[in-house]
Amino acid sequence: MDAVGDLLISGGTIEGIGRIPLGVDAMEIDCSGKWIFPGLVDMHVHLRVPGGEDAETLQSGLTAALAGGITRIGMMPNTSPPIDTTEMASALMQRASLLGLADVIPVPCVTMGRQGRELVDMMSFVEMGLTAFTDDGDPVADDALLDAALKRVSTFNGVIIEHPEMPGAPRGHVNQGRISNLLRITGMPESTEYQDVARCISVREQSGGRLHLTHLSSPVSLDMVSKACMTTDSISCDVTPHHLVLDEDALLTEHAMAKMNPPLRSKESRLLLTEITSCRFPWAVASDHAPHPQHRKELPIQEAAFGITGLETLFPLALEVLHIGAGLPVTELLRHLITIPSSILGVSPPRLAADQEAEIVLFDPTEKYTLAEIGSCSGSSNTPFMRRKLSGRTRAVWKGRLVHGGP
Ligand SMILES: [Zn+2]
Repeated sequence: MDAVGDLLISGGTIEGIGRIPLGVDAMEIDCSGKWIFPGLVDMHVHLRVPGGEDAETLQSGLTAALAGGITRIGMMPNTSPPIDTTEMASALMQRASLLGLADVIPVPCVTMGRQGRELVDMMSFVEMGLTAFTDDGDPVADDALLDAALKRVSTFNGVIIEHPEMPGAPRGHVNQGRISNLLRITGMPESTEYQDVARCISVREQSGGRLHLTHLSSPVSLDMVSKACMTTDSISCDVTPHHLVLDEDALLTEHAMAKMNPPLRSKESRLLLTEITSCRFPWAVASDHAPHPQHRKELPIQEAAFGITGLETLFPLALEVLHIGAGLPVTELLRHLITIPSSILGVSPPRLAADQEAEIVLFDPTEKYTLAEIGSCSGSSNTPFMRRKLSGRTRAVWKGRLVHGGP
C-alpha cells in the first residue's frame, strides 16, 4: 500500500482522498513542492509500428510517453501498412497492454490504406470502442468522401480528425516567408492550411458530424475554429507546443531538426496563435510526436523527413509557453491535456477520484534540465529542443502500479 500525499493508493486503485489514516504497512511519500495530477492524454502520436521500428518501437515510444507524464496516447494510423482494420488495431492494443506502460488508443484511417477512395468499416472499430478516425499525414481531399465520413461518424458521436492541408497544394519544405526566401527553399504558405480548415468547416455545415482539425499552425486557422465553435459544439482542434514556442528562425540554427509539417511559422503568427488560445473553445495540446532515424534527419532541409519527437517535452514546453508565458492557470492547462483530448478520442479521462484506477503523475515543477543531460527514452532524438533548458520534470507515474520513476 502506497500513500501519495493525501491520496491513498491500494491495490492499484485510489482508495481515498483527504486526510486518510494509514495502515501500518503503508509507505508514505513526501510530495511537498511537487504536483500530482491525472495522467496526460496525448491525442496525436506517431508510434511508427508497424513498419518504422528503426525510429520507434512500442516499448521505446510508450516509455517516452511515461517519461513525459503521458499515460494514454492516440496513435496515428500512417504506419506501414496503415491501421485500417480492427485486426491491426486490436493487435496493437494487445501488444501495448502486455507491456504495461501507457495505453494505446489507435486512431484508425478514415479511408482504406489512407488512399482517399473508400471509407474503412467504421462500425467494426466502434464495436471495439474506437470512435476517432484520421488520414493524418494527408487531408481527406474529396469533399463527397469527407461528407460521407462525417455523416457516418455522426451516427455514433465519433469524430473525423483532419490534417488540414489544401488538397493539390504543392508541398514545400518550410514556411513560405522570410526564411524560405533567405534559404531559397520552396515554402508552404499559411493559406495552404487555413483554406483547408475553411473547406472542412463548410463541408461539415452540410453534413453534420464532429470535426477535429489537428496541429494548427496558423492563427487564421485557429481563429476560424474559435469562431465556428460559437455556433456548434461539434468542432475542435489541437495545437502543438513547438508551433507556440518556436518560429521559422529556428531553421537557421537547428536546420532539418526544425523541419515539420505544418512548418514553423513567422514570429508574428506564433504570437497570435498563442494569443488566440486565451479564447474559450475546445482546443487540445498534442505533441505530434514524429520520430525519425538520424539518417532521415541529418540531411539538407529539402531532403530531410518532416517531424520532430515530442512526448517528453510536451508538458514542460506547454507550461513554459501557456502557463508561464501566457498566464493560463495550470489546472486549466491540464484540461487541454487531459479532459478535452479524452473527449475527442471518445474515452473517459483519467481522474483523481476515489475508486478510480491510480493513473497518477508526480511532477516536480522546479527541476531544470535539458533532454541532452537526462537522455531521451524515445527510439529517436530528432528534436530541436534537445539542448533547451526545460523547467519541470515527471518524477513518477502510477498506472495501477508504479510504471515510471519513483518517489
Ligand atoms: Zn498531420
